Amino acid sequence: MLKVIGVVGYKNSGKTTLTRALARELTARGHEVAVIKHSFHHLDLPGKDTTVLAEAVGQVGFISPQESGVFWKKSLSLENIIPYLQADIVLVEGFKAEKTFPKIVCLRGEPDDRDLFDGLTICAVEPADQVEGMALSSFERLRAPLLGRDEVARVADLVEAKAFKLPNLDCGGCGHERCYDMACEIVAGSGSVDDCISLQPATEVRIDGQLMPMNPFVSGIVRGTILGMLSSLKGFKKGKIEISI
Ligand code: SF4
Repeated sequence: MLKVIGVVGYKNSGKTTLTRALARELTARGHEVAVIKHSFHHLDLPGKDTTVLAEAVGQVGFISPQESGVFWKKSLSLENIIPYLQADIVLVEGFKAEKTFPKIVCLRGEPDDRDLFDGLTICAVEPADQVEGMALSSFERLRAPLLGRDEVARVADLVEAKAFKLPNLDCGGCGHERCYDMACEIVAGSGSVDDCISLQPATEVRIDGQLMPMNPFVSGIVRGTILGMLSSLKGFKKGKIEISI
């Protein structure tokens, strides 16, 4: 299952330095790693012709002997972009308002650092020039482990163990109205990604070969009802189930 982790912090808190070090460490461990970075500025296109073409259309793909890419002339969501990445771990730098994956907080040692703790923090990384006591005391209150900037291997261990991504559908199928509430439970250790019915393998119902459209909630009810009935029968075992009426 895809793992996503956020690296958040205010300006000059060392987000990019940590993201790069983490990407190198996780890649060295054999993971396929991708990074998505938040930007407040217009993106530079790689060549003049691409820029001219992008003025005429909303999407441009480009391929060179060294690089490839796709440029959209609009802002897309993380859920739109992630499927294009060939990765098993995605590091998301910035995007502190996103609430569907856990985060690492880069501290500056300023009082407003505590605003970054939204219940999704798996660890915080101390400021480059530590203000004695300040970060530690906010940190103890917020109950997340504090690691040093040079402890990249320990941060990577946490990413491997705790990263996840919920679908941002807010469908209510797990008993929570928002994915954010489910994500907080997972980070706190009282929930599991397996509780998200939208991430379960698809349940399909076909009538005369035609696929019936179902939202995740209805799909979960159909799946749960059938599994509930069949699991009490002698000889039941997990696997692909086919029912014909
Ligand atoms: S079931 Fe999944 S998609 Fe639906 S609210 Fe819960 S976590 Fe979000």
